[in-house]
Amino acid sequence: MPSAIVIGGGLAGLATAAALGGSGFQVDLFEARGFLGGRATSYPLPGDSSEIIDNCQHLILRCCVNILDFYKRLDVADRIHFHKQFYFIEPGGRTSVLRSGRLPAPLHFTGSFRSLAFLSLADKLSIARGLLAIRREHRSRKDLDQITMLDWLREKRQTPAAIRRFWAQVLVSAINEDLDRMAASHAFQVFWLGFLAASNSYQMGIPAVPLGDLYAPEAWKRIGNVRLHLRAPVDRVIVEDGSVRGIASGAERHSADYYVSSLPFERVPAVIPELALNLDRFEHSPITGIHLWFDRSLTQLPHATLLDRTIQWMFNKSAGRYLQLVVSASRSLVDMPRADVISLAIKELAEFFPKAREAKLEKAHVVKEVRATFSAKPGLEQLRPSSATKFSNFFLAGDWTRSGWPATMEGAVRSGYLAAEAVTRSAGNPGKFLLPDIA
Ligand SMILES: Cc1cc2nc3c(=O)[nH]c(=O)nc-3n(C[C@H](O)[C@H](O)[C@H](O)COP(=O)(O)OP(=O)(O)OC[C@H]3O[C@@H](n4cnc5c(N)ncnc54)[C@H](O)[C@@H]3O)c2cc1C
Repeated sequence: MPSAIVIGGGLAGLATAAALGGSGFQVDLFEARGFLGGRATSYPLPGDSSEIIDNCQHLILRCCVNILDFYKRLDVADRIHFHKQFYFIEPGGRTSVLRSGRLPAPLHFTGSFRSLAFLSLADKLSIARGLLAIRREHRSRKDLDQITMLDWLREKRQTPAAIRRFWAQVLVSAINEDLDRMAASHAFQVFWLGFLAASNSYQMGIPAVPLGDLYAPEAWKRIGNVRLHLRAPVDRVIVEDGSVRGIASGAERHSADYYVSSLPFERVPAVIPELALNLDRFEHSPITGIHLWFDRSLTQLPHATLLDRTIQWMFNKSAGRYLQLVVSASRSLVDMPRADVISLAIKELAEFFPKAREAKLEKAHVVKEVRATFSAKPGLEQLRPSSATKFSNFFLAGDWTRSGWPATMEGAVRSGYLAAEAVTRSAGNPGKFLLPDIA
């Protein structure tokens, strides 16, 4: 049985392990922390171990076919619940709903789009023109990785409200970057696959269980051949005579036929400096998650995107009393004291949900993920490495590698499947794991 060592137990490493383990490889996965999932995980609330929280609400769209395939491998796909309505709330509380109607794609949103109260007719006409232009240009235009989405939106004469309340509202959360910093290519992909290509691809999948439960040890029994080593940081990949010979984890040394690193980009140079990757242009973009527990229910909505304020999304985690708020590309909150972040969140919530004015806050927790994702800026795509490296038995995965997607769970799983395919090719028995995009 060929053997493989996977370094890192985030989604990229887990996807690599699931694919190889299911294809007859003996896999040993080494994860530094005591739990799996990396940046998409859950743990007990500090100071109250009875409450398990996700580091931050994670969601997928139905067009994320590879993460859905990964969940199927672990037999947990039914724990992702799909929502067919998007709620947009304006300060003051007026709520608009975007949902698919009876018309086929790309016209499926026509009915509900017309009724969105937070956009004027001029805004809607400019957005319709923008969407038609995406349809026209998404395969033909060559400079989309070189320009920002804001450049493109201005070129298409989008109204200021359309940019702020529609394009930014969707894209900043999807790509975790501001419009003036994100490459237009990523924004095109979100709208093409999520909004235009199929009438159900926009549906939002939200885990109905804590993220960590999706990768619980029982699920791995289905795959077989995967040994999980937790609290086992890999200090060094051992390179001798121009080949990778093993890994050092504490006092132990392990070796295998093949090696896959699924480490975040900032960890790779310390663990395997011999790769000499040029990562100078890679930067992080932060996400802040704000968990608030109130003494009463503030809303019955399952989730909503909040317009014109710092808080971008609200997720109702438990009967309207436990709300999880998300701010993507949250640079303005990184240096703000946590107490001020909480005060800001409560002040803003009261503008959308009047019950917040009387409600008593019972507890609160702020998670600032300063290294949430890489910043998907123009010009970076060509610098993302593919899975093959200069060592014939060593491969790269991770959401920052060239997966064809931005830094998302889908991107991480794609990278893991691509690395697993590269390993099987090298082993002389090519496997096919990556599912193609829906369009
Ligand atoms: C707050 C937040 C919200 C997000 N929201 C969404 C969302 O809604 N939808 C979405 O699709 N994506 C979202 N993302 C992005 C998504 O979580 C990531 O793109 C994805 O999880 C990255 O997976 P990965 O395996 O590439 O990296 P990671 O998850 O970072 O995995 C790397 C693993 O390597 C381990 N490690 C590090 N050093 C060592 C070592 N020396 N030895 C062994 N192990 C080591 C780490 O502990 C970690 O488990 C969000 C990210 C964050 C942070």
